[in-house]
Amino acid sequence: MPRNLDLRHVISPAVRDLIELANLQDFDRTREQITRLRGCARPVNLTGWTETRNAETGAVVRSYSTADEPTGRLLTACGSRRASRCPACSRTYAADTFHLVRAGLCGGKNVPETVRTHPRVFLTLTAFSFGPVHNRPTTNTGKPYPCRCGQHHGEDAPALGTPLDPKTYDYTGAVLWNAHAGALWARFTLNLRRALAAHLHMTQKAMKEVLRVSFAKVAEYQQRGLVHFHAVVRFDGPDGHTSAPPAFATVAVLNEAIGTAVEATALTVVSDTVGDREIRWGRKFDVREIAALGDGELTDAAVAGYVAKYATKSAEDSGTVDRTMVCRTCSGRGTVGGTIRDLCPDCHGTRQAEPIKNLRVQSHVRQMIRTAWALRGLPEFEDLKLCKWAHILGFRGHFSTKSRAYSTTLGALRDVRRAWRTAQAEAARVRAGHPAPGPDTVLVTESSWAYLASGYRPGEELLANQTRHEINQTRAEKARVKTEGEVWA
Ligand SMILES: [Zn+2]
Ligand SMILES: [Zn+2]
Ligand SMILES: [Zn+2]
Repeated sequence: MPRNLDLRHVISPAVRDLIELANLQDFDRTREQITRLRGCARPVNLTGWTETRNAETGAVVRSYSTADEPTGRLLTACGSRRASRCPACSRTYAADTFHLVRAGLCGGKNVPETVRTHPRVFLTLTAFSFGPVHNRPTTNTGKPYPCRCGQHHGEDAPALGTPLDPKTYDYTGAVLWNAHAGALWARFTLNLRRALAAHLHMTQKAMKEVLRVSFAKVAEYQQRGLVHFHAVVRFDGPDGHTSAPPAFATVAVLNEAIGTAVEATALTVVSDTVGDREIRWGRKFDVREIAALGDGELTDAAVAGYVAKYATKSAEDSGTVDRTMVCRTCSGRGTVGGTIRDLCPDCHGTRQAEPIKNLRVQSHVRQMIRTAWALRGLPEFEDLKLCKWAHILGFRGHFSTKSRAYSTTLGALRDVRRAWRTAQAEAARVRAGHPAPGPDTVLVTESSWAYLASGYRPGEELLANQTRHEINQTRAEKARVKTEGEVWA
């Protein structure tokens, strides 16, 4: 900043900082960095360098260093999946998930369009019941009748999903269910293959030669604080999405096998302290055929939209907190220091980042967290790492997963964005006048990066706001035009 610039009359610190930024050399580059983050709420600040050399001659082919950036640092998007943490990055995540699921349904992104002809269903599996909860029941004809407590609950009533009788509700069972939900899903997929083979009168080995089952699933919290799963289940030929399944592998066969597998899937959790628990799916599950083209049916584009939306929702939507319950100062040990250990000055030995009783959550959620925290201390549940997952009610956090053959990967989609960075390095090479490497040149890349901080400078925050504003306007415009890919937005 030029020394003679007097900013004392500018009152807003953010505006003052923006003027300082504008007076650094290459303000365009500063602005470009911010624009590229697409409104990320808390970008990661890095310092470091990367250098690519010709292995033989040692000549620098391309190089980049944050020392050359106007602010001496590189900002990268936080990449959070959760809308409560970063609306911008969670939208990117939703868009990536949308494309991933859609590619597996309609083709595109290296997936052939013929996947549209494969039998596909949209499956919803719910959790077991751990006691009656407040709800909004309806008759078969859709006519509402009162909850068991005698009331007609409104659509957003806070009581929905909470136990009618908290004293008899099986909190231990509920937390253990969440903690095993991922394992239950894995077991379900094994059972589904087994059920299919039985149904088709084949061995599993013989079936594998002609038929594969692919999945893409997301986890979502129900109001009662239990996870449930939505999944696309698709039949493929022996080579995955590139090959057609045999004609006898119909939606009807898939439907039947899913029913058998849901019924057959159970895990037993053994504990002398809290008693054994059988972990299984709830009685209510839903299988719907996914149609290639919409005639009032469930279309593939709509399914991709649902899945993308679920993927960015998370535990906070069921009213819990977005941060770990473990005290950071002592890493949950309760004490600090070396050989002579002192009581942790922050948690005073409770090991909790904040007392569970002070959390501003519904009592039902608090009881789920409290139960998870209590169970973490039992040796038989050590593997479940319940202290780490207590704040998300025991679930181990695998919010979206897919089988390898389903479609493209999130990594592949991110590579497209990474290519942008390589293009930047390439542009820098041309600017610096370094020669282009030949096709046979062996290149070595060295780099060193360090985390500096998270967030923006006050002036950068103003620029980020501008970017958000522009993105919102474009989105509003697009919504008016209503393009196909916007169904999920
Ligand atoms: Zn972000
Ligand atoms: Zn009720
Ligand atoms: Zn502590």
